[in-house]
Amino acid sequence: MVLAITTTHHPATDLGYLLHKNPARPQSTETPFGRANVYYPEAGEERCTAVLALEIDPIGLVRNRRGDAGLFDQYVNDRPYAASSFLSSAIAEMFGTAMGGRSKERPDLAAKPIPLQARIPVLPCRGGESFLRRLFEPLGYEVEATQLPLDENFPDWGESAYFDMTIRGEVRVSELLSHLYLLIPVLDDYQHYWVGEGAIEKLLSKGKGWLPTHPEREEIAERYLRRQKPLARKALARLSAADDAPDPDESAQEASSEEERIEKPISLHELRLRQVHEAIKGAKRVVDLGCGEGRLLQLLMRDMSFEEIVGMDVSIASLERAARRLKLDSQPERVANRIKLLHGSLLYRDRRLEGYDAAAVVEVVEHLDPSRLASFERVVFEFMKPNKVVLTTPNQEYNALFPTLPAASFRHKDHRFEWTRREFEDWAGAVADRHGYDVAFEAVGPLDENLGAPSQMAIFNRRAK
Ligand code: SAH
Repeated sequence: MVLAITTTHHPATDLGYLLHKNPARPQSTETPFGRANVYYPEAGEERCTAVLALEIDPIGLVRNRRGDAGLFDQYVNDRPYAASSFLSSAIAEMFGTAMGGRSKERPDLAAKPIPLQARIPVLPCRGGESFLRRLFEPLGYEVEATQLPLDENFPDWGESAYFDMTIRGEVRVSELLSHLYLLIPVLDDYQHYWVGEGAIEKLLSKGKGWLPTHPEREEIAERYLRRQKPLARKALARLSAADDAPDPDESAQEASSEEERIEKPISLHELRLRQVHEAIKGAKRVVDLGCGEGRLLQLLMRDMSFEEIVGMDVSIASLERAARRLKLDSQPERVANRIKLLHGSLLYRDRRLEGYDAAAVVEVVEHLDPSRLASFERVVFEFMKPNKVVLTTPNQEYNALFPTLPAASFRHKDHRFEWTRREFEDWAGAVADRHGYDVAFEAVGPLDENLGAPSQMAIFNRRAK
């Protein structure tokens, strides 16, 4: 089984430093299940490829098998060739330091996203190409997958469950390795080792920073833990409690209510939603990104000039509340067809959300970690790129005027930051420049002469090419 990692970063041979494997010196290690080799079929300034090849010893495997009768068949059939959890173990064995994000010689480069490509010529994939895409595309990769015939000599036999897969993206080497490490056995829907509590630790440590917000995190956890429900439940609970992703359900639930209590005297939220509605009028197909409990959706739904309305949120509990608010299960089909709720994350590219006329992002950015704003920006303005984006966020200057809000605190504990008018305009102006939009600003709520309004809105319009 083989994994090839290629970069076109310049000089490409730096890949050797990142992987801690010298391009000039092939390396080989015995593992309990066969020999692992790393070598470089190409190592130039422009392009460099490292290959990890694992020579599985099927006989040894069968001999050493530990009481799992189902293994025998699989091992003898496909284990030597098809990427599986053995390959993940080999990744950890050969590229462990790189997967941890460390590089002695090139520490800065290890921390930087660079153009990377990974190819696995024989990748078992239970769930087909669409599942493969659902795993890697939200992580920002371009996926190329060719389904392999069952037997090249007998094309009539049809397709196999194996793919020749190549993924490409601008990512850190550590991220690429962690993604592959966890997702190969998930695709295979199989683990060669006994899965217990230890596997939860692996899942959480290698999934740090991306798994908690991955739209398929539930399926990933279940498959990774060999569908042992109690383990999966435990892992999911810990995933949502992970530091870098506060429980999205819990924080979303509180987000509206606590903020509303503080802002109540001026009933700001209602005002804001009406103003957003006004700003996206004219569009036919719209998405509400971070739709929460669906208050904007409700408003838009009553306006028949919108033909298709989609709400997306990372919190399933919020989506369920939105579905109840919109009474989705009792609507006539004509209405139900106009509105759709999607579970997803604003931090990952999502093809389902491309091609819409307008997007609303209401009181959401301030819930994102500042280090994730760049991903958010690309997802919305580079990939979804609707003609219009209407985005609101609190105006931090105005907090001084809220009687119940202690000084120097945010309106909600899940806010990662609150921007002054200047900070917001700088950010939005730079985003507009980078992606070919014009941007205008509106105050939301009663205007204070010195401090501005409680909330601020940016309206981005894509420039005609
Ligand atoms: N737009 C709604 C809700 C605002 S509260 C309204 O104005 O009423 C912020 C919302 O952003 C929450 O529902 C939260 O679940 C959602 N959110 C936070 N991070 C997200 C992410 N990465 N992707 C999608 N939604 C996210």
